[in-house]
Amino acid sequence: MIKIYNTLTRSKEEFKPIEPGKISMYVCGPTVYNFIHIGNARPMIVFDTVRRYFMYKGYDVNYVSNFTDVDDKIIKEAIEEGTTAEAVSTHYIEECRKDMAGMNILPATKNPQATQEISGMIQMIQTLIDKGYAYPAADGTVYYRTRKFQGYGKLSHKNIDDLEAGHRDIKVTGDLKEDPLDFVLWKPKKEGEPSWPSPWCDGRPGWHIECSVMSKRYLGSTIDIHAGGEDLIFPHHENEIAQSEAANGVPFAHYWMHNAFLKINNEKMSKSLGNFFTVREISEKYDLQVLRFFMLTTQYRKALNFSAELMESAKAGLTRITTAADLLRDRISKAADAPLTDEENKKLQALDGCRQNFEDAMDDDFNTADAITAIFDIVKFINTETDENSTKAYLDKIHSVFYQLSDVLGLILDKKDDDLDSEIEALIEERQAARKNKNFAKADEIRDKLLSMGIQLKDTREGVKWQRV
Ligand code: AMP
Ligand code: ZN
Repeated sequence: MIKIYNTLTRSKEEFKPIEPGKISMYVCGPTVYNFIHIGNARPMIVFDTVRRYFMYKGYDVNYVSNFTDVDDKIIKEAIEEGTTAEAVSTHYIEECRKDMAGMNILPATKNPQATQEISGMIQMIQTLIDKGYAYPAADGTVYYRTRKFQGYGKLSHKNIDDLEAGHRDIKVTGDLKEDPLDFVLWKPKKEGEPSWPSPWCDGRPGWHIECSVMSKRYLGSTIDIHAGGEDLIFPHHENEIAQSEAANGVPFAHYWMHNAFLKINNEKMSKSLGNFFTVREISEKYDLQVLRFFMLTTQYRKALNFSAELMESAKAGLTRITTAADLLRDRISKAADAPLTDEENKKLQALDGCRQNFEDAMDDDFNTADAITAIFDIVKFINTETDENSTKAYLDKIHSVFYQLSDVLGLILDKKDDDLDSEIEALIEERQAARKNKNFAKADEIRDKLLSMGIQLKDTREGVKWQRV
């Protein structure tokens, strides 16, 4: 049984999907005006891992995550770069996709973009106006009538009378609001800004309506899980609930999941504070697998402090894991094809225990920290409970559990070696071709290059063989 901490009820609840075996999940994505920073990477890694665990448990996950590609910050960046907002967002979406691939984040079922969904937004705003939940002001701005929505404040557990309007709303014409709590659904265009025609004015959508509309279009009116960083609880997610539930007349999401912040020197890492590292910067120093592993060493609802020491220790931890994978593969390649022995069968019970511990940890609101402990127990098992006499059947069983669980965390155990192997094979082929053409200098050069990579060649009657030295 999987338990999820639901921000809505402030408690861990047993997860029950709307439809058996299926999960609909919406994760608020980044605003694309620059390279993403590693704070933005935390929800990406965390919720990708949540998705992977559901898949491991046999669920079919429909995973939607948007790109916010129309926003004041994008427009500002475009003006600074002397280009269009579209050019800025297109460029950074592409860069973000590269970062996500580097962090081994599974491609979403769909990555909708706000600018491609404007007609749906106009429709939902019109529905809200028709139902009395929204009103156009004299200048064409459309506001949401916050106090009319009965459940306002239920996600952030705020009392409506204590509320101040959210800071992420751009107050275009605050004095035209009926109430200071009302927030913008549609705003009139300013000179030089991207805009779309609407029944109220040429303009663009507010940030919150985007997610309500994209979530409904790709996942339906009621979804299983809606997720994002904890700074989104208020006002973004609170406003999404107000919009969606008023427009659709049904609950918006059953479970609301929020990751805690990635911090640096105990402050939230953010673009506005300037205390951030981009994922791209980190990739120059580390394999992004290390960043992914680092993020998962702490349960997602706990704040995580970024430091060079912790990255180094993540790197060392990950190396312990991949080294065990190397050893296991090596043993498998040399193992006798014999059936499991009784003794091996007994030993495998301990491995089952590791799998159980892993699942118990993940079932408990995705406690990846404890899940990693279970992975380290498997590493220890490989190092102490296998040897050159182990049967292939036994080693294959260990391999299967080790790889399956590592994959839930998105850890790649042997990509490096595969890449290296194909590079070696290509060099050997090149050397063979050089020898055939009697270019012995070139052939020797390639042999020396391989030697410097720790690869020794042996010419045998069956052809060229290589080994690590
Ligand atoms: P933004 O581009 O600011 O809308 O953020 C995209 C996602 O990254 C949202 O889910 C944010 O909550 C999340 N996020 C931004 N900064 C951090 C941080 N320092 N730690 C964790 N999550 C963050
Ligand atoms: Zn959102």
